Amino acid sequence: MLLEQNQQTTIESTIATLPVMEAFYTLQGEGAHTGRAAYFIRLGGCDVGCFWCDVKESWDVNAHPKLSIQSIVDGALEYPGRMAVITGGEPLMHDLTELTVALQKAGFQTNIETSGVCKAVTGSWDWICFSPKKFKAPNPDIYNKANELKVIIYNQSDFAFAESFVPHLRPDCRLFLQTEWGRSNEMLPRIVEYVKDHPQWQISLQTHKYMDIP
Ligand code: SF4
Repeated sequence: MLLEQNQQTTIESTIATLPVMEAFYTLQGEGAHTGRAAYFIRLGGCDVGCFWCDVKESWDVNAHPKLSIQSIVDGALEYPGRMAVITGGEPLMHDLTELTVALQKAGFQTNIETSGVCKAVTGSWDWICFSPKKFKAPNPDIYNKANELKVIIYNQSDFAFAESFVPHLRPDCRLFLQTEWGRSNEMLPRIVEYVKDHPQWQISLQTHKYMDIP
């Protein structure tokens, strides 16, 4: 009986699972891939603590069903788009190697949106959107891996925060400034002027919110 229990434990522990808060097919609304069809996989768990976070329900890693890698990939395969966006929460709280390898084997482009707060940047990525937050420092390991820097502008000091990362990034890293949604009225005109004066930056709009889609 003890042997059977041990065998069962071993079998279960080899089946990788991840906590999935939600997964849905929509258009990427932000950043470099704006407008493209994408399957979003929102993983549970985040300890960054942004006070303006609009997905606070993602923070508790134990509040979401743990799904097998295969079932996550099967869910993505139900739709014709072949771009998968792993988001959170803070997805790099988890080892994403198995998920990304499985998605790529199934024909998906693997994109991630991350604050970079992690012990290690795990996973096989086609596109890394690095979105650092003031509330917790990122692991510098992400600097030379990021394809895109996207900084949320909540107040004026966030422009300097955004600039502080640029010297550490690859020369081809795309640079985006995006207003925090609730502060659009005040910050959007400032971002427009900033981009006009600093044309290495682009504005990123949360176009999915304007379109009223997920
Ligand atoms: S890193 Fe993202 S999910 Fe985590 S608190 Fe900040 S905005 Fe929310």
